[in-house]
Amino acid sequence: MTDLANLNIKFLPGVGPKRAELLKTELNISSAEELLYHFPYKYIDRSRTYRINEIDGNMPYIQLKGYITGYELQGTGRRKRLTATFSDGTGQIELVWFKGIKYITDRYKTGVEYTVFGKPTVFGNKLNIAHPEIDASNEYNDALSGLTPYYHTTEKMKNHFLNSKAIQKIMASLWKNISKTMPETLPAEIISRANLMYLYDALKNSHFPTSPEALRKALFRLKFEELFYLQLNILRYSKMKRLKYGGFLFRRIGHYFNTFYEHYLPFELTGAQKRVLREIRQDVGSGRQMNRLLQGDVGSGKTLVALMAALMAVDNGFQTCIMAPTEILSAQHYDTITRMLSDMGLHVELLTGSTKKSEKERIQNALLSGETDILIGTHALLEDYVVFSNLGLVIIDEQHRFGVAQRAELWKKNLSPPHVLVMTATPIPRTLAMTVYGDLDVSVIDELPPGRKPIQTLHRYDNQRSSLYGAIRKQIEEGRQIYIVYPLIQESEKIDLKNLEQGYQLIREQFPEYEICMVHGKMKPSEKEAQMQRFATGKAQIMVATTVIEVGVNVPNASVMVIENAERFGLSQLHQLRGRVGRGADQSYCILVTSHKLSTETRKRLDIMVRSNDGFEISEADLQLRGPGDLEGTQQSGIAFDLKIANLAKDGQILQQARNIASEILDKDPDLSLPEHYVLKKQLEKIFRKKINWGAIS
Ligand code: ADP
Ligand code: MG
Repeated sequence: MTDLANLNIKFLPGVGPKRAELLKTELNISSAEELLYHFPYKYIDRSRTYRINEIDGNMPYIQLKGYITGYELQGTGRRKRLTATFSDGTGQIELVWFKGIKYITDRYKTGVEYTVFGKPTVFGNKLNIAHPEIDASNEYNDALSGLTPYYHTTEKMKNHFLNSKAIQKIMASLWKNISKTMPETLPAEIISRANLMYLYDALKNSHFPTSPEALRKALFRLKFEELFYLQLNILRYSKMKRLKYGGFLFRRIGHYFNTFYEHYLPFELTGAQKRVLREIRQDVGSGRQMNRLLQGDVGSGKTLVALMAALMAVDNGFQTCIMAPTEILSAQHYDTITRMLSDMGLHVELLTGSTKKSEKERIQNALLSGETDILIGTHALLEDYVVFSNLGLVIIDEQHRFGVAQRAELWKKNLSPPHVLVMTATPIPRTLAMTVYGDLDVSVIDELPPGRKPIQTLHRYDNQRSSLYGAIRKQIEEGRQIYIVYPLIQESEKIDLKNLEQGYQLIREQFPEYEICMVHGKMKPSEKEAQMQRFATGKAQIMVATTVIEVGVNVPNASVMVIENAERFGLSQLHQLRGRVGRGADQSYCILVTSHKLSTETRKRLDIMVRSNDGFEISEADLQLRGPGDLEGTQQSGIAFDLKIANLAKDGQILQQARNIASEILDKDPDLSLPEHYVLKKQLEKIFRKKINWGAIS
């Protein structure tokens, strides 16, 4: 058996040093094994050959068999093209090329039977196929009929004639040397339990499908395996952590929690809030360390849950820290929480980057002496000088803004790790949560507080601005407040800021009778705070801002969110921004303003926003549209999304099955030391050797 992992592809027939170099630089493939795991991205059924008199311009890719009866060069300069007449006895069709003309006429002769493959279209009353694939009929018939695989290649590869078909040929010669005794990469137990195809057959069928059914089974096996090892890796660390660390035991629900619940709770908790509090209560009372993700749409009332969890800690003699991604949001949490707790005699502090030095020292001392019960703040909380006397609970708001490493920092703020509750209003689909936050238990608030009117979302074009301003004026006259948001994207910060300033000037000219404030990320914190304050207190009617107001900010009287250049925002960002309104009892509106020129994908995004208010539905759509690698919160997660064959957007069921089996195996054999699990250990080492193991630190 040749060692495929150590077999350099340049030694394969049909490769050689030059193509090997291309495969390395373009696709990062250098060994025979890596080539084997370069899977086709699609398969096209070429089992049927059509007659020319059967086809029309509405068909997808089709295959024909016949003869080239003549060539003709047409047009000049950039419009030059080569046309071949192709005939099969039932009719004629034109084959057209716009480049590579010499190559074609040298290579494809009249009087030889060819198989032609491509998409027919009608142009000027004639059927033609542009840039078809052509094979001599006998060569083609080899093993290529039926389901034909298509491989991803790059422009540079194609320029060197290393196209999909060339890869297919290299693959065919590689397979001649692969023995059926290829070692299995999954234990026999799993293969039989999940009813999987053997590795050799699966790999072979993925490149050379013998039937649609065999292909389906092959892809299932390969996807299953990929997702299985991903889950095994995540679960292995989280289960080990569980065994290793006990958690602080919050024995009782006591005075503070009960007093708050009975006397100061400003409203009845929603059913979902109650359920989540029970889940948290169970965790902190179990003796194990809590690691819980709380997902809840914007406005679902996560702050109150956080506060009541903090009271559980206080009742048991522990301190709590609440970390939020921005100064504005931290300050707002501080205000909300001190207000709600005002008569309970608890000690709450706020610490951010702009806290003065003397104030910092005071906070430090109060924290260390145990006087402080709840500390709220930004990243500043992570600093070394922040030392608690007895930290028992860490709450991280808007988790997607922080990296996994930062979450890990807070673990170290007590001798044994505190309970951790991370909250996010960017709900991510279940399949993704299992992967990104594979080590966290998930709670969901799937219910909004009663009496909220769903926000109405409208899509408007640039040239409808005057009627838009009319509608805004009407809202202000009724006493409401307005947000107008401009995009601010890192790469072009200067230009964006200019856009914002111009927008601000424009709004001032349009609404001279009103007070307008402006907030952006480049301002000094004190200035930002002053502007926010003008809006929060109702002094200013309109706030012009960048996405700094995206997270958390709560001004219930604001009823209109205008988003300029909405095409430049992602779905989850739009949803977050929209969540800034609709917090009071009035009907609220979100208006997405764009130019007329929009891509199909952008239109889809805007349509979803107009149609749905449901964060989960939106994040699911985002996953389908953009793929998991681009979703907010996944970049910092440290999880590699370079999956070779599985697709988190589509293979949720396989993922679930793989996860269940991985979990059972680890329950039986946590460190995979049983002889029958040797192959699992070996594969994990091989797959995750090069990657940072976030599971180990989070
Ligand atoms: P988010 O989940 O987006 O952080 P918040 O915690 O800011 O949401 O809550 C949004 C608003 O809903 C706040 O004004 C809060 O006071 C209010 N709220 C929270 N829970 C309830 C409830 N059970 N009943 C009524 N209003 C609630
Ligand atoms: Mg919030």
